[in-house]
Amino acid sequence: MALVALRNVTKTYPTPEKTGSPVVAIDDVTLEVEPGDVYGIIGYSGAGKSTLVRLVNALEPATSGSIEIDGLDITALPERELRRIRLGIGMIFQQFNLFDSKTVWANIAYPLSVAGRPKAEIAARVGELLDFVGLDDKARSYPDQLSGGQKQRVGIARALATSPRLLLADEATSALDPETTQEVLALLKRVNREFGVTIIVITHEMDVIQSIATKVAVMDGGRVIEHGDVFDVFSNPQNASSERFVATVVKGVPSPAELAVLRERHEGRIVTISFRDGDASQASVFLELANAGLEFELVYGGINDIRGRAFGHLTLAIRGADVATDAALARIAERVDVTEAA
Ligand code: ADP
Repeated sequence: MALVALRNVTKTYPTPEKTGSPVVAIDDVTLEVEPGDVYGIIGYSGAGKSTLVRLVNALEPATSGSIEIDGLDITALPERELRRIRLGIGMIFQQFNLFDSKTVWANIAYPLSVAGRPKAEIAARVGELLDFVGLDDKARSYPDQLSGGQKQRVGIARALATSPRLLLADEATSALDPETTQEVLALLKRVNREFGVTIIVITHEMDVIQSIATKVAVMDGGRVIEHGDVFDVFSNPQNASSERFVATVVKGVPSPAELAVLRERHEGRIVTISFRDGDASQASVFLELANAGLEFELVYGGINDIRGRAFGHLTLAIRGADVATDAALARIAERVDVTEAA
């Protein structure tokens, strides 16, 4: 059973000046997050990602549709029960949202104190969490004595304090530099693997999805325009907007402008060969060209790796007799995608 299931969810906000039409922040979204997923939700600013998080976290009601958490439809629950649901969901934020006047220890202990847990249990749990996020030596420090990465580690420890099954990360690495981002993402991976916590990662950064997510939904104008396995979406985006996101991290196909430069620099026919995991190997493609007596060089592209599965686009400049080139490309095209630049 899905841990989070949205069915035909819509969220509209009233028109600010009571003119024109209401703002449709979420438009008929259907989405399922399975236990153990690291589910990425990507989209430009204004796509509806944060609104989606507020709906899943039951901070705001949906206008229509249903939202199930662990099989329970939360759209009709009274506030008292929603509070219980929220206890089972951890949240981390871009700006960390720590209490500046509390120590690291007290920040992590806070949700446990609110839940009325016994002192001894709180002390044991905070100790465990400090150890897990590698901040034992910072227990008595205050947030303003920490780096951004350390602050987010405190945020993660606090979010995990009540042992939630679901963690929502809303642009959790957007305020961090690339190296610290990777550290925090590695920690989130451990949260997923070691504690089995399901994670929903909201981001506008495709490399975050590439590093951590197993599944991804691309949002645009309040709608989910594409969703699926990260490898499938990255290696073969079905939608122009998804393709733009993917292009930010994937070594891909040369643009028309880049092609013009390639033509100036290289003689021969410019051909792009696209590989996906399980297709014929690169070696067999190169062998085919060599056996046909053709000369070739790699002029653009590369191979991408998503959790051990490879795909990529290699653009070659091929020189030799046209008939031999056509025959070799036809044989190669039986096994992989071949596109010749016009
Ligand atoms: P994202 O997180 O992808 O940047 P948001 O969910 O913040 O997108 O916003 C989606 C759309 O809903 C935007 O057009 C935004 O202006 C609108 N919106 C979000 N929250 C409110 C609100 N409380 N009142 C009115 N409009 C809102």
